[in-house]
Amino acid sequence: MTSLLSVQSLAVRYGPIEAVRGIDFEIKEGEIVALLGANGAGKSSTLNALVGLVPVASGTVHFKGEDITDWAPELLAPAGMTLSPEGRRVFGTLSVAENLRMGAFAITDKAAVKAAWDRVYDLFPILHERRDQFAGTLSGGQQQMLAVGRALMSNPKLLLLDEPSLGLAPKIIGQVFELIERLRGQGVTLAVVEQNVAMALEVADRGYVFANGRLVAAGSAADLAQSDTLKSAYLGGE
Ligand code: ATP
Repeated sequence: MTSLLSVQSLAVRYGPIEAVRGIDFEIKEGEIVALLGANGAGKSSTLNALVGLVPVASGTVHFKGEDITDWAPELLAPAGMTLSPEGRRVFGTLSVAENLRMGAFAITDKAAVKAAWDRVYDLFPILHERRDQFAGTLSGGQQQMLAVGRALMSNPKLLLLDEPSLGLAPKIIGQVFELIERLRGQGVTLAVVEQNVAMALEVADRGYVFANGRLVAAGSAADLAQSDTLKSAYLGGE
């Protein structure tokens, strides 16, 4: 498998706060990669930096072999990398269909937009049923589906999911992980930040463990599931 995303010495800072302190990792085409670690360990900052939502302080990011380190988010989606952000950031006063349309902002061909809508509605029939409703009227689980659906509208090669199961009922959480596997079956490569470690490692091929802005472990999902470093990372240690 070739490397789809390759990150070298990535650092992210917020003023004096060093959120990410020089990390290296890669994601190969076709993989599901879990990004794990306690709250505040630097996972979201990493994803946000990859898609240009926060600046890269130092280091480089290559996507499909191209240096995209300082690219703006609006260039990355058409290039094939999108983020479904933490906290289901949907536009509550826009309809479901309009929210999805925003994810395909770079697509001007009407038939291509229609095909993208159809694909998302096929994955999430409830979004089709509710396509004319304000997104703010959806349940939490449906808003999460909408956030993922919006990220899928540009047909990403690499989809970054930031805590897709956060705040969802256990029954719905199972559906999120089924979706992740289904998307991989459709040729999407995925990186998933998850607090739901056991389930994430069940679907993932590999994982990386963050602690205090650094990577403290990496390996196959099966090895990480047994790892003491993973356990201590959640207790706040390194
Ligand atoms: P969480 O699951 O809580 O989102 P995380 O592993 O994704 O955790 P980050 O959100 O990346 O971690 O946070 C890493 C560090 O950066 C933390 O110390 C956090 O307080 C800080 N941080 C994150 N976003 C900002 C911001 N916009 N401004 C200042 N500090 C921030």
